[in-house]
Amino acid sequence: MQPLPKEYNFADIERKWQKKWEEMGIYHYDWNDKERVPFSIDTPPPYPSGELHMGNVLNWTYFDMVARYKRMQGFNVLFPQGWDCHGLGIEIQVEKTYNIRKRDVPPEQFRKWCMELVERYIAMMKEGILKLGCSIDWTTEYRTMDPDYWRRTQLSFILLYKKGYMYQGTHPVNWCPHDETAIADAEVDYVKRDGVLHYIRFPFEDKSDYALIATSRPEFIPACVAIEVNPNDERYSKYVGKRIVVPIVNRSVTVIADECVDPAFGTGVVMICTYGDKEDVKTVIKHKLPVIMLLTENGRINENGGKYAGLTINQARAAIVEDLTAAGLLEKTEKITQEIGVCDRCKAHVEILERKQWFMNTRKLTDAVEKTANEIVWYPDYMKNRLIDWTKSLDWDWVISRQRLFATPIPVWYCKKCGELILAKENWVPIDPKLENPHIGKCPKCGGKDFTAEQDVFDTWMDSSITCAVHAGWPDRADWKHLFPADVHPSGTDIIRTWAYYLIVRHLALFDEKPFKSCLINGMVLGSDGRKMSKSLKNYAAAPEVLNKNGADATRQWAAGGGATGSDIPYRAQDVEYGRRFLVKLWNASSFTSKLLADYKPDANAKLDLQPLDKWIISKAENLTKKVTEEFEKCQFNVAMEDIRNFTWHVFCDYYLEAVKDRLYNPDLSGTTKKLAAQDTLYQVLYRILQLLAPVAPHLTEEIYQHMFKDYRGFESLQVSPWPKFNAAIVDEEAEKNGDMIIATMIAFRNFKAENKQALNAQYSCLTINTGSAEYAKILKASFEDIRGTLKVNELIITPQKKPDGRQISPYDMYFEAKQ
Ligand SMILES: [Zn+2]
Ligand SMILES: [Zn+2]
Repeated sequence: MQPLPKEYNFADIERKWQKKWEEMGIYHYDWNDKERVPFSIDTPPPYPSGELHMGNVLNWTYFDMVARYKRMQGFNVLFPQGWDCHGLGIEIQVEKTYNIRKRDVPPEQFRKWCMELVERYIAMMKEGILKLGCSIDWTTEYRTMDPDYWRRTQLSFILLYKKGYMYQGTHPVNWCPHDETAIADAEVDYVKRDGVLHYIRFPFEDKSDYALIATSRPEFIPACVAIEVNPNDERYSKYVGKRIVVPIVNRSVTVIADECVDPAFGTGVVMICTYGDKEDVKTVIKHKLPVIMLLTENGRINENGGKYAGLTINQARAAIVEDLTAAGLLEKTEKITQEIGVCDRCKAHVEILERKQWFMNTRKLTDAVEKTANEIVWYPDYMKNRLIDWTKSLDWDWVISRQRLFATPIPVWYCKKCGELILAKENWVPIDPKLENPHIGKCPKCGGKDFTAEQDVFDTWMDSSITCAVHAGWPDRADWKHLFPADVHPSGTDIIRTWAYYLIVRHLALFDEKPFKSCLINGMVLGSDGRKMSKSLKNYAAAPEVLNKNGADATRQWAAGGGATGSDIPYRAQDVEYGRRFLVKLWNASSFTSKLLADYKPDANAKLDLQPLDKWIISKAENLTKKVTEEFEKCQFNVAMEDIRNFTWHVFCDYYLEAVKDRLYNPDLSGTTKKLAAQDTLYQVLYRILQLLAPVAPHLTEEIYQHMFKDYRGFESLQVSPWPKFNAAIVDEEAEKNGDMIIATMIAFRNFKAENKQALNAQYSCLTINTGSAEYAKILKASFEDIRGTLKVNELIITPQKKPDGRQISPYDMYFEAKQ
């Protein structure tokens, strides 16, 4: 047996194994293996955003623990890695970096800058992921910005168009005026902001009176198309049907009745504008009201705003309030707190514009999504409700077109002459319709030969919501269904409404099949003070620093053990440090064990005289195996982590190793089956610890394995050794109970020495243990030599007598008398 070096140098060890594992190719999914059962992880391709952060560390540790555990379970594991490149985030970053707006440079130049930035960010994230020791199969690496990936996104669109899921329509959509693009419901965040409620007089056309209307958005007055009251509101029911003059624009509108109006809000009289908010959209559809679009795509007032045309929304509000005041129509103002929708990328106030867009008919899948969500296993289970609630809350279809540049092109043209829509054929993709004409000579409808390309591009979620099929090899491999649906889709609490939802609708629509069998949810990483981690709050931890300082294995323990799966967990430096102290403890214990085993050779046929404490720890290790296996199966990583650490630290290091030292050092026992029993137990139990810990702390366990176990076990790496199978026959409850008593006796005497300010190895001439029971005496006597040796006692007397005048051993109600 090779002795283990004294020093645990995590930096060298981790670097070494990261390189060697890659060379060994143990992470490669074997596409030709027809024997092992495949296990496919739908790694969500991350949005490259620069340096790896602690949230990423948490995600990837989860993915990787599952991958490593399943590999040891004998599965043919697919752990792919892609990068979700497109989208607003990168465009905004490029605009900031070069201090431009997207239209200031030619589109090719803009896209080139986006790609360069993405590559820089990918390199940074990849470095972090490698440092964390993730067992990714890098031969699968892909980028959604590559034309080869466009091909898949475009093909999925063509198929869904043919199935009737894709349509164009002029509908109200969420619009970010800063980024000048449509965005989906999932990209709207809701925040509380201070606002002002303006109480404005709207005179009746017959000049008899006026209605008082409270609004926080007076700038929308030029787009007012109706006034609405609740028909059950006695104050106003008489207004219904009357004509009211909209101030500023002097246009008359009708007062309509709708029970949706809340009489308690504002004055109870409401103006309907197109569109102040989503409620307006519902009212317009319900009452078939006209639409007056007021805003331009970059958030200014258009020609419908008359004299306010060209002003920004804020400027228009100020000007209109000024004019209303001058006209004596502003009765009062009131400060309020309101909830408004903002763009999740740039935080601009989201407006509602009516624009021609591409939509996916997702609402018709609502019931199917709910059914699928119930078929999927969720870790933790209650997370499925987040998806179901979200699905049911959606009242608009998914708008899949964007008015941006860095994205997959929509493979569509229009005939210049007759407007006919030409959809790319399945074998034309990847294709950029702005650079290439459709591969047909003429318009099938009118014979026209000129075409215009679709200018819009896809929402980036169109790329990333087909990964379960793509990872499986769709559409290129005939056997892609071998890996589909994916076995697990890992997701965060923050992206259930996007990632999990879009994956489910896309795959259901495309293949009539759920995309994944289970969904593993991680929570968010909070700062050390329990608040959201942020650089400005000084509670921020940079992942590369944490990894450099403590190593991957210690950091991964924080991620595994920080909290229940799915719950938010705080980043605390002391948790990582605790992880590192644990590894040092295990390293030192292994190094010590390797010395105790210097003359030991494992031999399955060797005769062993197992002592009570040997049987005790062997049984406990078996029960631990059962528990940890069940916990990994249920993705309860924090519980598994705690169980392994407790066993290693307390049962193995503190008690067993201490209690068998004497048997191993005692020259009288040299070459006996009693000594061999201790050596063999140490060897088997330490190996078991390394295996159970291997998914969490792969580097340290591998290093110890290679020194002490590889020659005998024969596996190239601990990572491909078979996960231990629980064997109920090994469990010996009586041995555990007896061992607990023996250990309690030893601890009591150790404490006795400590209280008397004596060294633990202080020698005693005589110790009498008055057990007070024949049964207890028998149990202790069976471990006579281990007790005597460990406690450093020359003469040990164990009696069934009860003599309560000595030192009590709780909780067994024994007493001992000691003589030095
Ligand atoms: Zn925005
Ligand atoms: Zn035509």
